[in-house]
Amino acid sequence: MNIYIAAKYPFLRDAKEFVRREGVSTEEILHDPLYQRARDMGMQRVNDAIERGIVGNYVTADETDALMTIFSYPVARMIVASIGSDFLRGRYALAEAKRAYSSLTGEDDEFVLGVAKEFGINATDGLKIYFTDYLKNAPTWSDKWKLVNMPLKGGWIGLKKVELARLVQESLREKIYNELIDLRPPPNIKKVFAEDVNRIKNMMQRKEMERKVEIGKASISKFPPCMRQLLAAAQSGVNIPHVGRFALVSFLHSAGMDTEEILRLFSKSPDYNEERSRYQIEHITGKISGTEYKAPGCSSIKTWGLCPVEKMDDICRKVSHPLTYYRYKWRGKK
Ligand code: SF4
Repeated sequence: MNIYIAAKYPFLRDAKEFVRREGVSTEEILHDPLYQRARDMGMQRVNDAIERGIVGNYVTADETDALMTIFSYPVARMIVASIGSDFLRGRYALAEAKRAYSSLTGEDDEFVLGVAKEFGINATDGLKIYFTDYLKNAPTWSDKWKLVNMPLKGGWIGLKKVELARLVQESLREKIYNELIDLRPPPNIKKVFAEDVNRIKNMMQRKEMERKVEIGKASISKFPPCMRQLLAAAQSGVNIPHVGRFALVSFLHSAGMDTEEILRLFSKSPDYNEERSRYQIEHITGKISGTEYKAPGCSSIKTWGLCPVEKMDDICRKVSHPLTYYRYKWRGKK
């Protein structure tokens, strides 16, 4: 692999080998003036992820540029890990994965196939993939990617290059996210990027505060009738329409529940499928989609036929949003 390719795909094994061969220590990358550009670009990667949802396509005019770009990747990862925000981890992983997808679509089939194989996606030379491998990596929450909409023959699916690149995007996002959870950055990273780390930390905390409508865990007894009904349906395995699932997950998320807590609620359903539920939840809460969907108001819920009119109470008659109902109940308790 040449240095320019490594700069484009710094998460690949060969790019990591480049870093290892250079024999530069983490201390040098963080403090040596020679690597100031790598530090600036690392910060830029994180800012791009937050502001644009995709890491930039940084120009590499010569080998020094390329080397700085390669080093900027571990710098960015250390910054993200040091902030310790799950939202940021998810957003950064998605932003890197989207950049990789965009770059891969411009490569030839053989290259994309090689990258896919490195991520454990077993596609053949003709870009065919066995359906079990496909299901492991495809974003099947979207109709376009559902197995019934793919050209399936004898268990094999023929993919286009862009489709295989999209599977790589999914797999890479998950890999980067998981690595960030385990990454223990050196303590001095916070000193080197003091101002930026504080700025981003505050921004993430504000986001968290906006997201959580109340202190403490969501209390089901204070949920409005519509959400209690949807939750009961989900837990008893009753098929609820897509909009109902969307309304429920976005409400639970706004009420302060994280993915694991929402999954625990859904796990009581007899047809519970953890992988599928996790995918749907992480899509709605923005972890993998980049868009954190807002919980819908009463008028939408009524339009979808999901407001149980017979169960509406006095609070329902005063509010126009299920979250306002929930806050109202909390305040009432206090
Ligand atoms: S009025 Fe609003 S909060 Fe009350 S049950 Fe209907 S949709 Fe839910």
